[in-house]
Amino acid sequence: MMAHLKRTYRRIHITTLLVCVCLISSGLLLNSRLYADTGYPAPAKITPTLERLDLIPYMGLLEDKSGSLSFEQISSVKDPVDFQAVGNRSPNFGFTESTWWVKLQLHNAQNAIQQLTIRQDYPLIDLIDFWYQDQNAQWQHITTGDKQPFHNRPIDHRSFLFPVTLAPSGTSDIYIRFETQGSMNIGLFAHSEKNLIDLVGKEYLSLGIYYGGFIVLIIYNLIMFVTVREKTFAYYLLYVLSYGLYMSVHNGLSFQYLWPENTWLANQSLLFLLSLSLLWGLRFTRSILSTAQLARRSDLFASLLEWLSLVCLVISPFVSYHTMIIPLAILTIIVCGHFLIMAIITFIEGSKPARYYLTAFSALLIAVFAYMLKSFGLAPHNFWTQNAFQVGSLIEMILLSLAVASRLNELKQQSFYDALTQLHNRRYFNQQISLEMQKAQKTGQPLTLTVIDIDHFKQFNDTHGHSEGDKALLAVAKILKSTIRKPFTPCRYGGEEFVLILPNTSTTEAAVIAERVRHQIQTDTANGFGLTVSIGYATTSDTRFNHENELFEAADYALYQAKRDGRNRTMSFENSDHHPSDPKVIEDLKSSGFAAGLD
Ligand code: GH3
Ligand code: MG
Ligand code: MG
Repeated sequence: MMAHLKRTYRRIHITTLLVCVCLISSGLLLNSRLYADTGYPAPAKITPTLERLDLIPYMGLLEDKSGSLSFEQISSVKDPVDFQAVGNRSPNFGFTESTWWVKLQLHNAQNAIQQLTIRQDYPLIDLIDFWYQDQNAQWQHITTGDKQPFHNRPIDHRSFLFPVTLAPSGTSDIYIRFETQGSMNIGLFAHSEKNLIDLVGKEYLSLGIYYGGFIVLIIYNLIMFVTVREKTFAYYLLYVLSYGLYMSVHNGLSFQYLWPENTWLANQSLLFLLSLSLLWGLRFTRSILSTAQLARRSDLFASLLEWLSLVCLVISPFVSYHTMIIPLAILTIIVCGHFLIMAIITFIEGSKPARYYLTAFSALLIAVFAYMLKSFGLAPHNFWTQNAFQVGSLIEMILLSLAVASRLNELKQQSFYDALTQLHNRRYFNQQISLEMQKAQKTGQPLTLTVIDIDHFKQFNDTHGHSEGDKALLAVAKILKSTIRKPFTPCRYGGEEFVLILPNTSTTEAAVIAERVRHQIQTDTANGFGLTVSIGYATTSDTRFNHENELFEAADYALYQAKRDGRNRTMSFENSDHHPSDPKVIEDLKSSGFAAGLD
């Protein structure tokens, strides 16, 4: 089974890596073939009723491989063939060394001045130079980009907005120069004033919802971490925080609001925060999926990836964006693939948080691949490819907090188990017996409590050693597990004492069960540990027990009677020599300090 799983694991791993490599290489290939159209498009007609116009079909593109062409040279190019049309395809060039020039012609279809705004919607372009001929045929020049302080922008917005005024019935030329070390995404639109206000309002509302979601998750998990002290919450919190910040760099919000003057941060923070997200993402995933226990090898690989992310994190402030971004993008793909592998393996191993994790992850995975395809120029740059990432990531984060809750539940469950025998422990017993007692009192059904104690166990330990003693306890626990079925629950009370809660069980029925347990332990260990047990039990119908402590003390009393009578036997409280005709005897038992009592 394990060998099969390992093989499956290896196959999944190799397949994921291959898929990633194929995606990247085909992205680069397609990227180089994308821009092959010839012909020059007609001017874009700007009518008074125009609201929003995608300018891509009207764009002429010119690649300047050395980046040395000047505006004067470009604007004097008379032969329009130099600028080539993109048609309906996406001007997405992935990571390119070239500088790209865009030429646009806007024709004012109205015999009056028209105002409009040109929007470049990918905010991570290093430098954008925008020239346009105003209504007086004068060239206006705007320099912006995320390598320019934010206040250089003509309009205070996370992406780039250029206001343009067109002369009546005139045709205005626009030239835009794009230079960037990151992904070259050109997405140009013309908007009327009304349309732009609408768009920006909706956009900032959805961003508010998005970051509001993140802030709520962060505060909630901070409170959870402070109260529960479970480190998974802290990892999750740090993951959400670094990831949220990373996303805010991505959509230009952090540059607008957090560090508008710091162009270095605007560019380098992306590398830093991406590495940090990978690091905390790995930490969180390993913790929530318990990979150290459930998937050893994947866990080792994950720790290697953690080290790589840490290296990226440490060097990110000192290495150029250009050098880092491709290795980091590849590392991101590998880490995402590995998240998936760890989730699948732990899911197969039966982890409950893995179920939520997998669901959450699918949402993000779809988004990440869509985004990567876009970054490498394979998919068009549109609302969905640009925003799917964000929607996917918020859904992921919300679903992941379900995984954290499930992990917490798992931990709570673990706290009810005994580490050695994997039976329920005393804490569970205390809680359960109290519940069963209330139920019995309400329904009037009998509840029997059975206390089992191994005979002369101290002697066994002294003769065979403590570790052999542990094995003997484990063997007894196994026999109890196989003999006792639900709704009866065996628990380890402590040391070599076990208890059975037997709801809706009379003394006569309990006698049969107790005898079966005693017999089973004796016969099953006869050729090995050679153990016997003494068992005492008490039923709520024996006398009027007001509290579960009294029931326990009665069962314990019967147990001591069994010991006194020679061990390796069962004894009911009813038949013990102290069986009370007067319920007050329980009080006497308690005051004599005879029984161990409950916490
Ligand atoms: P009796 O028949 O009267 O019950 O005698 P006993 O020796 O079983 O009773 P006693 O309560 O004096 O000793 C219980 C022993 O159980 C003491 C301790 O050495 C052993 N013991 C308790 N917990 C553990 C454990 O977790 N592992 C091992 N190996 N021994 C344990
Ligand atoms: Mg004992
Ligand atoms: Mg004992």
